[in-house]
Amino acid sequence: MEIMENIPLASLTTFGIGGPARWFAEATTEEDIVEAVGWACEHTAPLFILGGGSNLLVSDSGFSGLVLRVALRGIESLPRHAGSRLYQAAAGEDWDAFVERTVADNCAGLECLAGIPGTVGGTPVQNVGAYGQEVSTTIASVRALDLDRMDFVNLTPTDCHFAYRSSLFNTTARGRYIVTRVAYRLLPEGPPTLRYADLHREFSGNSAPTLSQVASTVRRIRQSKGMFLVPGDPDCRSAGSFFRNPIITAGHFHALTAQLGAEPPHYPTPPGDIKLPAAWLIEQAGFPKGFTFGRAGISSRHTLALTNRGNATAAEILGLRDVIIDGVRARFNITLEMEPVLLGF
Ligand SMILES: Cc1cc2nc3c(=O)[nH]c(=O)nc-3n(C[C@H](O)[C@H](O)[C@H](O)COP(=O)(O)OP(=O)(O)OC[C@H]3O[C@@H](n4cnc5c(N)ncnc54)[C@H](O)[C@@H]3O)c2cc1C
Repeated sequence: MEIMENIPLASLTTFGIGGPARWFAEATTEEDIVEAVGWACEHTAPLFILGGGSNLLVSDSGFSGLVLRVALRGIESLPRHAGSRLYQAAAGEDWDAFVERTVADNCAGLECLAGIPGTVGGTPVQNVGAYGQEVSTTIASVRALDLDRMDFVNLTPTDCHFAYRSSLFNTTARGRYIVTRVAYRLLPEGPPTLRYADLHREFSGNSAPTLSQVASTVRRIRQSKGMFLVPGDPDCRSAGSFFRNPIITAGHFHALTAQLGAEPPHYPTPPGDIKLPAAWLIEQAGFPKGFTFGRAGISSRHTLALTNRGNATAAEILGLRDVIIDGVRARFNITLEMEPVLLGF
């Protein structure tokens, strides 16, 4: 495996922003990963694991360590067991292509997650979710290199501590595991999930849409919101949703309702807390779709996506982030949290 030097990272991210990696390597096998980790230790170089770069903002000065791109390939579909079918997908597989394959096999469980960019290995990290599904409900196990033990481990969903946009990989054990393979348990001939309002509406006249119809509808809706990567579409130079939907206590929600004189849009979320749509908070705080801040901006089709309007710097994106966070805090006393990962800051 070749260790390269001073490799530009911007083109390896969907934001298209950021300086170079001091060192860069691509792993196509688990042995490559072990070798790269050894190299980083020997050279006391910090290590960063890169997937598809779709949830990442790289600093303008780049990263002074080793960026290891996980490019392991291969998908195995195991025979049905107890009514379900298990897929083992290597971490470097393209996520949307994998979803397409499971839908073509008529296996339910991932159809609403169609059109999300990135790799298979990126999905457990923030428990990817959209349109009424989260990967945590279908993940059977995650194989990873545990850097503390320098051994490969198989983690169960319970080990992974999945929650809304989080797991042990992006919270308590950040940087400890390199995911090499994920197993998903899907339901052959199962019904599509139609929990999300947009999908309900789309299929109101169709009592039994196929998985394939649902997946392509999800991609179409995503594209209408600039959330499906289309080369040349300026609204796609983003990392998807930049902010998580905040979860507040019932007490906080009642105080907010009293302050506003009416209930804001919300969704109950266990255990008794309330989730608020960050997009609504941002718009109400004075930041509409298409809002610009130098060369950074808010997508013209989705309030949650911050975009690179052309040659934006990471500093400009973070400047816009801070203006939005301050505005929402001043209006609602709620501090928004960003979703993408920062590298090199
Ligand atoms: C247009 C657009 C729409 C999006 N829509 C959604 C959406 O609907 N729902 C959603 O949840 N997300 C969404 N995202 C965010 C993003 O696509 C997902 O989070 C995706 O899973 C990130 O995967 P990646 O391979 O690109 O990870 P990267 O961006 O490369 O990395 C993200 C983090 O995961 C870590 N990581 C990646 N691979 C591995 C690995 N093999 N082992 C260990 N750590 C790893 C990295 O170190 C980093 O910390 C969207 C992004 C874009 C650009």
